[in-house]
Amino acid sequence: MRTRGTRSTRSGVLARRLKRLGTESAFKIGPFIRSVEQQGHRVIRCNLGEPDFPLPAHIRDEVKRALDDDQTHYCDPQGLLPLREAIARDMGRRRGLEITPDRVVVFAGGKPPIGFCEQAYCDPGDEVVYPSPGFPIYESFTRYVGATPVPFHLEEGEGFTMTGRRLARLVNKRTKLVFLNFPSNPTGGVASPEDLASLADVLQRRASPNVRVYSDEVYEAILFDGAEHRSIASLPGMEQRTVIVSGVSKTYSWTGGRVGWAVFPTAQEAAVFTNFNINVYSCVPAYNQLGARVAIESPASLPEIARMVAAFQKRRDVVVKGLNAIPGITCRVPKGAFYAFPNIGGVCEALGAERAWQRLPTAARARSSPSTLFQRFLLFRHHVATMDRRSFGTIGAEGRHYLRLSVATGLEDLKEALARIGAAARDRQGFEDFVREGSGLD
Ligand code: PMP
Repeated sequence: MRTRGTRSTRSGVLARRLKRLGTESAFKIGPFIRSVEQQGHRVIRCNLGEPDFPLPAHIRDEVKRALDDDQTHYCDPQGLLPLREAIARDMGRRRGLEITPDRVVVFAGGKPPIGFCEQAYCDPGDEVVYPSPGFPIYESFTRYVGATPVPFHLEEGEGFTMTGRRLARLVNKRTKLVFLNFPSNPTGGVASPEDLASLADVLQRRASPNVRVYSDEVYEAILFDGAEHRSIASLPGMEQRTVIVSGVSKTYSWTGGRVGWAVFPTAQEAAVFTNFNINVYSCVPAYNQLGARVAIESPASLPEIARMVAAFQKRRDVVVKGLNAIPGITCRVPKGAFYAFPNIGGVCEALGAERAWQRLPTAARARSSPSTLFQRFLLFRHHVATMDRRSFGTIGAEGRHYLRLSVATGLEDLKEALARIGAAARDRQGFEDFVREGSGLD
């Protein structure tokens, strides 16, 4: 029997809930890359989820100006009013919505509102629907708050989109939060207007008005072939159910700025999130918020974004073509974001990765997959850093063999990466040796 006195001793130093917290592997692969580099190899980094362009000069200048203006103190925990006004105008204009600044909260990036929304909207036992493969923090925080993760499996054959027909099977009385992410990390999938309409229809017919849709639109500016961004919040009846999230990391190539924002259905809900900010980091640095305001409002931003998107599209075309030329790999053409998400099922088959994974000790097997073995082999033996399928949601990932390659790397490096991936896909002996030696599999 457990008594009050022994409970903490039995559960160790750390709280038990920590066992449920996942991570974003893209941040954890760094030490592996460095260890390969320390052995004298040049690693091509296709693992990074950040644009490789410098912060545009007009934004940089505004941050410097704000620093010189002594904007270095505590400020409004909801976000500076001039920035919230700019966000409300810009997000509203592009979505056909009337947004007031009291519904906007500024966060330290597009990431914090994920965990804050899980905490604000979900009690233990509530269900959270999220795309898988998807941004790993959705699954991580769902478990952490004791809610039940309900993955919506994005299918390659369906263009990695979400439809109302499939969502209808996952939504029930316990559903509390539904994550959408278009353009998507890691697949580059974009929902068509019909897909969005069918999702909105199911949400309005099957879900209570208390269910929130978290529309993660951080890649809204990175769309290819001239496509325009569409938000589910623009559809009739959806604005009052949707939290729209975006930020500066991807649009302005400013991941280090740590400025993101959300538009909430009401000012009352926004106030809850301002209080999260107060409890966690008080406010976002004022000088970066002022830089973000200029980023949103300056006409100088548009050509910068267009240049970046054109470069991503060119690289996407080279990478997708190159991947499809490798026997055992097929890759769909992503419509947005800056990732390719190839199916490597044929390579796993040819290299015997499935069998090699089956033979791993139980603990190592539980932490990996056949695509993890190929991803590690690529890094340690062929010196290309990528991400495996499991990095984007683990539940139901078995038997799905994919990698994510970021194209936020120079074209020449991407070409070299393709050559190395092709060589790795043919290197059966090297793969066998790698698995037998077991190094790099922890
Ligand atoms: N959502 C998605 C889908 C992402 O890919 C990322 C970053 N990789 C974020 C949110 C968080 O971005 P940030 O906190 O840098 O704004």
